[in-house]
Amino acid sequence: MNSQKQVEVAVLGGGPAGIAAAISAARGGAKTILVERYGFLGGMSTAALVYPWMTFHSAAGEQVIRGIAQEIVDRLMALQASPGHLRDTVGFVHTLTPYNPEVYKVLACDMLHEAGVEVLLHTSVISVNATEGCIKSVLLHNKSGLVELKAHTYVDATGDGDIACLAGAPWEQGNDGHKVQPMTMKFRMRGVDLAKVKQYMQANPAEFYEKSLVNELDRLPLTGVMGFYSHWKAANLPIEREGLLFFTGPHEDEVLINVSRISGLDPTLAEDLTKAEIEGRKQVLLLEAFFRQHIPGFEQASVSAVGTQIGVRETRRILGRYVLSGEDVLGGRRFDDVIARSGYPIDIHNPEGKGVTANFIREGGAYDIPYRSIVPRQVDNLLLAGRCISTTHEAQATTRLTPSCMAIGQAAGAAAALAVRYECAAADVPVLELQQRLLKAGAELGIRDGIDGGERLMGRGDRKRE
Ligand SMILES: Cc1cc2nc3c(=O)[nH]c(=O)nc-3n(C[C@H](O)[C@H](O)[C@H](O)COP(=O)(O)OP(=O)(O)OC[C@H]3O[C@@H](n4cnc5c(N)ncnc54)[C@H](O)[C@@H]3O)c2cc1C
Repeated sequence: MNSQKQVEVAVLGGGPAGIAAAISAARGGAKTILVERYGFLGGMSTAALVYPWMTFHSAAGEQVIRGIAQEIVDRLMALQASPGHLRDTVGFVHTLTPYNPEVYKVLACDMLHEAGVEVLLHTSVISVNATEGCIKSVLLHNKSGLVELKAHTYVDATGDGDIACLAGAPWEQGNDGHKVQPMTMKFRMRGVDLAKVKQYMQANPAEFYEKSLVNELDRLPLTGVMGFYSHWKAANLPIEREGLLFFTGPHEDEVLINVSRISGLDPTLAEDLTKAEIEGRKQVLLLEAFFRQHIPGFEQASVSAVGTQIGVRETRRILGRYVLSGEDVLGGRRFDDVIARSGYPIDIHNPEGKGVTANFIREGGAYDIPYRSIVPRQVDNLLLAGRCISTTHEAQATTRLTPSCMAIGQAAGAAAALAVRYECAAADVPVLELQQRLLKAGAELGIRDGIDGGERLMGRGDRKRE
C-alpha cells in the first residue's frame, strides 16, 4: 500500500450525482472527498456529451427540481454558458436546459472548492473492503499508486453501482430478460444552418414527432428536433432508430446528435463496452455523411466533437429499502420520506431493437423519490446517488435523467453528513431533519417543512416504513 487517506464522507464518482452529493455533504459540515476516474468532472454530461439536461419541470410546467441543480444552472447563466430552461420544441417534455459542457467542467470544480471538498481526479476505485455489512475502506488506484481511503459514510455515485456491488449489496439489471437500454455514441456537428432546418420543419410538419411544437417555431427558439422520418427510412442505415433526434447549441451553428444505437450488449462487461465504443465511432462517421447528404441545413456541417466514451443509459440497479416502481412514477406517488422529485416521463429505448416506449405521469405531474430508495440493503454505511438507485427497470428510465440525478445526489450528500453527525448508519438518518436541511438548501420536495412538521402541497403520502 502506498498511502492512506481518512475523511468523513467519500463520494465515489464525479458525475451529476457525485458533484451534487459532495457539495451537499461538505456544506452539511462533513470533511468530504470526491473521487473521479477521469481528468474532469461531469460524468455522462461531459464524458459522453449528454445534452441538454431534461427536465427540471413537470409536463404541466411546475418546477420540481431546484437546490444545487438550479444553482448550477444559475451560475452557468451568469457565465453566459446556459440560456436557462427553454421550451422543448420536440414536445416530449416541458423544458430542457442547454449548457456549455466545457464551462460546466470548470464551474463544478469551483463549486466543490468553495464548499471545501477535496477533489481527486484520475483516480479509480478498484476494490472495496467490507465486512459484516460495513465498508471499512475502498482501494483507489492512480498514477501515484494505491491509496486506501477510509470514511465514515460512502456515497456510490459511479452510475454503475460499482461500490455497492463490490461491497456485496444485492442488485438487478435490465428488463425481465436482463437486457438493458442501448448505448449511444453522441456527437456534435457545427456549420449547421438552423434557419433552413426550421423552414423545412414548418413546410413539412408531418415529418416530425406528433407533439413537436412546429406551429410555435415563429415565437420559440428551436431547441430540439425529432423526425425527418422519410429521409431516415429511405437511407436504410444499419442503425436501429426510427428517426433523427438532435438538439441545438450551445453555439448558434451547432447541434448534438442522439441517433447512434448499440443494442444487446452489457456495459458492465469490458469486452462488450469495447465492442460498443468501436461500433459507436463507426456509426458517427456514417451519420455525419448521411446528415451532410440528406438533411436540409447540414450541407456544410461537420463533426466537431465525439464523446470521450460511449453513453451508457442503464446498468446495475442496487436493491434498497424501497424499490421505486413504474406505477409509483406514473401515478405521481407521494412518499413521506421524499428526498427528491422528478417530472420526467418513463422513456425506455428498446433494449432489443427499434423504438422508444414513452409513458407520461398522471395529470402532467411529478413523482417523489423516497429516502429508502437510496439506502442499499446489506451495507450500513453506504448511500446511493444517481442512476444506480433502487428502482425497477421502468422507474430507472426516468430517475436516470441528469436533473433527477443531481437532486438525488444533493439528498445523498446531506444524508451522509447527517450520518456522520449522529454517528449512525444510513438507514438511521433522521428523515425529518434531512428533509428540513434539504428544504433550507433550496431543494424542491413538494412539502413546506418536512413531513411531520409541515403541510403537504398536494396528495397524500405513504406513511409505511419497512
Ligand atoms: C445516450 C444517453 C442519452 C441521455 N440523454 C439525456 C438527456 O438528453 N438529458 C438528460 O438530462 N439526461 C440524459 N441521459 C441520462 C444521464 O446522462 C445519466 O443517466 C446521468 O449522467 C447519470 O448520472 P450519474 O451521476 O448517476 O452517473 P454518470 O453520469 O455515469 O457519472 C458517474 C461518474 O462516476 C465515474 N466513475 C465510474 N466508476 C468509477 C470508479 N470505479 N472509480 C472512480 N470513478 C468512477 C465516471 O467516470 C463518471 O464521471 C442520457 C444518458 C445517455 C447514456
